[in-house]
Amino acid sequence: MPTCAASPAPILRVALPSPLRRLFDYLPAARAPACGWQPGLRVRVPFGHRDVVGVVIELADTSELPRQKLRAVSEALDDTPLPADWRWLCRFAARYYQHSLGDTLHHALPARLRQGFPMAGRTHTRWRRAPNAPEAPNFGRAARQAELWALLGQHPGGLATRAITAHGLTHDVLNRLLHKGLIERCEVETAAPVPAGGSLLATPALPLHREQSAVLAALHEKLDAFHPCLLEGVTGSGKTEVYLQLIEAIAAKGRQALVLVPEIGLTPQTLARFRQRFNVAVLALHSGLTDAERLDVWEAAASGRAKIIIGTRSAIFTPLARPGAIIVDEEHDGSYKQQDRLRYHARDLAVARAHYHGIPVVLGSATPSLESLHRALDGQYRHLFLTQRASRHPPARLELLDLRHRRRQGGLLPDAIKAVKATLDAGKQVLVFINRRGFAPTLACHACGWQAECDRCDARMTLHRAPPLLACHHCDSRRALPDACPECQSGDLRALGSGTERSEETLQTLFPETTIHRIDRDSTRRKDSFEQALREIQRGEPCLLVGTQMLAKGHHLPHVTLVVVVNADGGLYAADFRAMEHSAQLLEQVAGRAGRANDPGRVLVQTLHPDDPHLTLLAARGYGALARELLEERRAAGLPPYGFMALLRVESPHVDAATALAQAAGAALTDWLDQTATQAYCLGPVPAPMERRQNRYHLHVMLSAEKRSRLHAAARFLTHWLETSAQARRVRWSLDIDPQTL
Ligand code: ADP
Ligand code: ZN
Ligand code: ZN
Repeated sequence: MPTCAASPAPILRVALPSPLRRLFDYLPAARAPACGWQPGLRVRVPFGHRDVVGVVIELADTSELPRQKLRAVSEALDDTPLPADWRWLCRFAARYYQHSLGDTLHHALPARLRQGFPMAGRTHTRWRRAPNAPEAPNFGRAARQAELWALLGQHPGGLATRAITAHGLTHDVLNRLLHKGLIERCEVETAAPVPAGGSLLATPALPLHREQSAVLAALHEKLDAFHPCLLEGVTGSGKTEVYLQLIEAIAAKGRQALVLVPEIGLTPQTLARFRQRFNVAVLALHSGLTDAERLDVWEAAASGRAKIIIGTRSAIFTPLARPGAIIVDEEHDGSYKQQDRLRYHARDLAVARAHYHGIPVVLGSATPSLESLHRALDGQYRHLFLTQRASRHPPARLELLDLRHRRRQGGLLPDAIKAVKATLDAGKQVLVFINRRGFAPTLACHACGWQAECDRCDARMTLHRAPPLLACHHCDSRRALPDACPECQSGDLRALGSGTERSEETLQTLFPETTIHRIDRDSTRRKDSFEQALREIQRGEPCLLVGTQMLAKGHHLPHVTLVVVVNADGGLYAADFRAMEHSAQLLEQVAGRAGRANDPGRVLVQTLHPDDPHLTLLAARGYGALARELLEERRAAGLPPYGFMALLRVESPHVDAATALAQAAGAALTDWLDQTATQAYCLGPVPAPMERRQNRYHLHVMLSAEKRSRLHAAARFLTHWLETSAQARRVRWSLDIDPQTL
């Protein structure tokens, strides 16, 4: 062991998966990794009585603890540091969202790396043409075999099994060619480079419409610099085609593109469009992957082998060796905001990341968030438009139907039913949108007015028919249906209101000859059942679709010409100041499903408030006009995006404990704001919109400021106060920067 008094071993400051916002000091392990000790190395360390995986953040000469008290790292897990761009993003996110760095790194690592598996040395199977196979074998009528043969011809380096099945070719087809001796299997190291070869495009790009060309030209102007763009394009205007051609330009430069899509949007439909277009590897990150597959994607992106990466929210944490562009499709979508632990917004991180890399970022939506719209109108983002649909028909305007004092069947007004009949008679499809799954929003006693309520939440229980039960959609508790009213013993219990199951049932009696597809979380629990229904719907037979949000977004339903919104009022008078923005986005997206192909569409919106000024503006002039009006109202009220917010959420099974902490935190914050003369405001504590949920009490303390720097200064004080307060240790709390829902 070499001894050198002048330079003692460095102290490693390590981030560990812990909510504590601090680093932990360790001595190096006896064996140093090949690269030497440096920031970014994954290490295994003893922590309390456990072994955990952490990341070295910095090297230091001294520690607050005496050297002999420090424990040593057990081992370095890799011989090279984790990717630098990924580390930068984690540090940025931890700082911005006031979250522990260790927890952030942990969250952002693929599960395998979190668990300490090595990064290198993994292999997978590839298929390629056998060297001694004839040039042009005769496949007769076996078209699929010929297809696979041609595909492998385009990829002399071989294709992974997954890439082959992604083209719709089965294992059976593979085995047949294998038996004929035409192809062979080889095991390759996962990290091995893919041999170059073939052209970039597998199918030619579509000739662009005039507006699309203008947008693409604007994007081409600045491919090598930070260039944030909002692409405001009506539903069906060909945004995806623009993305594809932007990616083509990026890939041609040997750079990578990262595409974010909402959870619901990542259907095989979207992915297939990307895969059909490009010869280069298009990798998808979604919830269906195994941990090993996730690690493969991570590694392929970090090494630069994957040229196009498509994924949902968490894909923003994919390392990129040669980043070229980031695209956020449906940028307004709520699923980009993580609602627990590290409460990040993937769209906002995408912009920060593009800035760091100096690359373009495109935020696309038919219904942009007020945040992005504000920045575009303000000149911070370049504002690009697609106002025309690729098909001939403009998006349909909403027609409002007055629900007051009118008889309904299964929630539908006579006018709506008449329109459904006419559409089906014309051989077209109808989408009935209803924001509630289950049979009815609740069960009520007709004699005394009792309603079925959840024991654990301030909420009513939803009535389900198949199987019959009462379920709480907030905590998932279930109960059998009572035979009689628990209050007055009357047997006259009735379903109140309509959910998807009831609408389906009523529509089936009204249209007994028509196929009805119900699409909600209950009907699509089985894997693939959603895709199967979509495939059937796309065949174009006249039918009725009854569905929730799942159907409303992103899907191309070319044969739907009528959309009926059963009740538009859910979000209209909610406590949350974003409620109108969110319901307008949803309505416009639902409306966008109508008339996307050759026939014009109609959208009927049933409402109890047909005179509501926002709703009538939306109906008359569309989302863009309403959004600009809402921005004015936000400006007048000093609400985001004209001010900044953070929300402290406090929860406990004991209402007193939650209240005491929320009050103490609010008081400490108010004192600090006074003392430091910081221009930020503290409001509350107030009960959360649903105060009791899962038998826990929820309170909010709101922090707001006109300047982001002030908000962050105050938020830093608040987290520090909470971390050091003994009271806060017994109560669960979290701080949400830029909360999207109250
Ligand atoms: P968006 O993403 O804006 O909803 P899409 O890119 O999905 O729109 O386009 C809607 C439909 O129009 C798709 O079927 C697409 O293939 C078609 N389309 C888009 N651009 C063109 C074009 N330039 N020429 C012909 N068809 C197009
Ligand atoms: Zn009763
Ligand atoms: Zn409940």
